[in-house]
Amino acid sequence: KLVVLGSINADHILNVTEFPRPGETVTGQRYKVAFGGKGANQAVAAGRSGADIAFIACVGEDDIGDRIRQQLSADKIKTAAVEAVEAQTTGVALIFVNQDGENVIGISAGANACVTPDYLARYRSLVENADILLMQLESPLETIMAAAGIARQSGTQVILNPAPAQKLPDDLLALLDVITPNETEAEYLTGIAVKSDDDARRAAAVLHDKGIQTVIITLGSRGVWLSHDNHGELIPAFRVKAVDTIAAGDTFNGAMCTALLEGADIQSALRFAHAAAAIAVTREGAQPSVPWRGEIDAFLSQ
Ligand code: ADP
Repeated sequence: KLVVLGSINADHILNVTEFPRPGETVTGQRYKVAFGGKGANQAVAAGRSGADIAFIACVGEDDIGDRIRQQLSADKIKTAAVEAVEAQTTGVALIFVNQDGENVIGISAGANACVTPDYLARYRSLVENADILLMQLESPLETIMAAAGIARQSGTQVILNPAPAQKLPDDLLALLDVITPNETEAEYLTGIAVKSDDDARRAAAVLHDKGIQTVIITLGSRGVWLSHDNHGELIPAFRVKAVDTIAAGDTFNGAMCTALLEGADIQSALRFAHAAAAIAVTREGAQPSVPWRGEIDAFLSQ
């Protein structure tokens, strides 16, 4: 069983030719509202790829929160621990995308800030009875620490995707079994800019020294650097024509957990995760791009 603790956002996306400057108003195109948040994206990737998964999160008492909960259920996620919090709004990300595909994003945590240690305490047994706990950094840090502590005490494996990038206290790192930073996040955590395999090896060594057994640094289209048991290796990604890499890392993390739950060894789990993420980058959007199990199996058997 998997438990994901994390964020839920409604992404409001507007395409503009150029970003507005202070005081300026610009007219955009193709406005859409999509369901996102790293926690939700990773939960969806796990649910669609076949994991037995429960999600601990909060939405606001609003229409979009209701619709998101329903969609999570349709994506095979247990949502008993996804509560609608009174007088709160669902988390929001306001995203401008310019003609070069760059983005600027403003986030309002909204109900995500209600995933407190007290809220977690009500769902403690979910963490205790899980095989894997998967988290990101869009929830209050004290809750992430508390959840990792509960998991550690009960033999639940702790996997942290340390995104968005920030520095983390050593006491949190010491509670992790697996960490999955991308290159930027690895640099925040270790001070080492990851440009080569040798850099990745050194960054991984810093994280091992903090007490983390398995370090997986994601390298975009190159794949991942896997470091564990005193051994580091590059596990290459699949070659596909990428159209939009939004949620690549989220899909990767969710699918990796599915494979680990099924007893796959780490190399096979990473291959499965690469396949899921490769499919996701060939499609637009966050959650709409996340593949179902049948699609991943078909991709792997090509
Ligand atoms: P993030 O989205 O968190 O920055 P990465 O860019 O490192 O993470 O990508 C995570 C994973 O997504 C990679 O390890 C790989 O499996 C897959 N991926 C990302 N970009 C591509 C790509 N262009 N082609 C194939 N797979 C990709």
